[in-house]
Amino acid sequence: MRQENSAILAFDQGTTSSRAILFSADGSMLGVSQREFEQIFPADGLVEHRASDIWQSVLQVGREMVAKAASLGLTITAAGIANQRETTLIWDRKTGDVVYNAIVWQDRRTSTHCKTLSDEGHLQNVRQATGLVLDPYFSATKIAWILDNVDGLRPRAERGELCFGTVDSFLIWQMTGGVRHVTDATNASRTSLYNIRNGMWDADLCHLFDVPMAMLAEVQDSTGYFGDCRADVFGQAFPICGVAGDQHAATIGQACFTKGSIKSTYGTGCFMLANTAQDCLLSENNLLSTIAYQINGQVTYGLEGSIFISGAVIQWLRDGIGLLSTAAQSEALAASLCDNDGVYMVPALTGLGAPHWSPSARGAIYGLTRDTGPAHFARAALESVAFQTYDLIEAMRADGIAPSGLKVDGGMADNNFLMQFMADILELQVDRPALTETTALGAAILAMLGSGQTTTLEQTASLWKLETSFQPHLDRSKRETLLAGWQTAIKRTLLDCC
Ligand code: ADP
Repeated sequence: MRQENSAILAFDQGTTSSRAILFSADGSMLGVSQREFEQIFPADGLVEHRASDIWQSVLQVGREMVAKAASLGLTITAAGIANQRETTLIWDRKTGDVVYNAIVWQDRRTSTHCKTLSDEGHLQNVRQATGLVLDPYFSATKIAWILDNVDGLRPRAERGELCFGTVDSFLIWQMTGGVRHVTDATNASRTSLYNIRNGMWDADLCHLFDVPMAMLAEVQDSTGYFGDCRADVFGQAFPICGVAGDQHAATIGQACFTKGSIKSTYGTGCFMLANTAQDCLLSENNLLSTIAYQINGQVTYGLEGSIFISGAVIQWLRDGIGLLSTAAQSEALAASLCDNDGVYMVPALTGLGAPHWSPSARGAIYGLTRDTGPAHFARAALESVAFQTYDLIEAMRADGIAPSGLKVDGGMADNNFLMQFMADILELQVDRPALTETTALGAAILAMLGSGQTTTLEQTASLWKLETSFQPHLDRSKRETLLAGWQTAIKRTLLDCC
């Protein structure tokens, strides 16, 4: 039950920074603290984090928000955790010592391992059980890599002396003083070891990926009791009552509770997740099936599409090319033209994700003339984000989803030019909420549910408030011309890398 003077603490442990956000019992944001931490790039394609950097940043932001709650006369009654997904940690069950840096989701070191498994014909079985593709993105091959590359680890893992965890699991272990080795179903669903149909770690997959089952955490609903955070950690004890991967938490924060509702987060990359309710749809269009959330033992499935580069293309125009001094400037620059004048950019700076999955594709700009200027570059870059979103929506439609609108968040969702162009190209209403911290809000909602402060997910829908709704109004033939230009550009880019 909701208590007077109570607050919820939500953690959003992301790829480049950790945030703690304090929410009142009725879901208003009371404070936020954020710390960036170091990204380690040992070689091309490798990305690691120090486990201690992740933990210290969480400690600092958590302590600040616990102090903030105290200064407001509030007591934290529950905490929720949303986290970067797939990132892999292994530690000693007795001492808690982490045996290797966290291998981050972006890390490509296990490409060859994945290709071998694919060549051996395992893709269909993996897809059927996990909803995922065979790709280094997911945790399983990262675990095997650590066990095979750090001396003496494999026998220790076989003897049950080591724990594997995604970041949620690692944080709960730290917060509970090593008492709880648990995770939630959404995070488990990103490991390639978890069968999303029967809700169990899969012995055949563990065998295939060579991961001892003794390392795996207990899998729980996304709501419920995950353990008590000790008083000496943040200065106040409280139970951890909600956990989900960041994109899953954002789906909840965006109140995508009905079948066909879709959210799309525009940060560095873009992650679109559609609620498919109780249908575990297996995509025929290169999307991923995933567990959107699991509450009271009931799984709600989702279909996911990931674009590797969205905000990053604006970052590149700013830092790489020097065309912009701030990301926000791209809006006025793009809007200074009435048209793209036939200039298209395919921002495949690190390959193309869904639905093309072409790691070797590289970026291209088409249609340059003597009249092309900086504004065309800004416009083509922003338009490319909407065109890529269109490709994902079309893949979702082909898989049987009938979207009625798109809810957006992330840094790039602030760009009004892009949001209007998106509505026009998708021919869908695009809704931007007042509170764009949807990931943290989702973690807070899970914690409210898990601690009994609210009883159903649907009751929390009123926490989502509209800021701006962008309606499609582009002339149909103009839209078709634009889409034809994009499709030609994508085809040429894909042809070029094959
Ligand atoms: P992440 O969580 O991935 O670090 P954020 O949600 O903080 O990303 O969004 C930052 C990204 O969005 C950056 O890549 C930046 O270039 C882009 N961005 C931020 N504001 C704007 C804007 N007004 N217009 C276009 N792009 C923007």
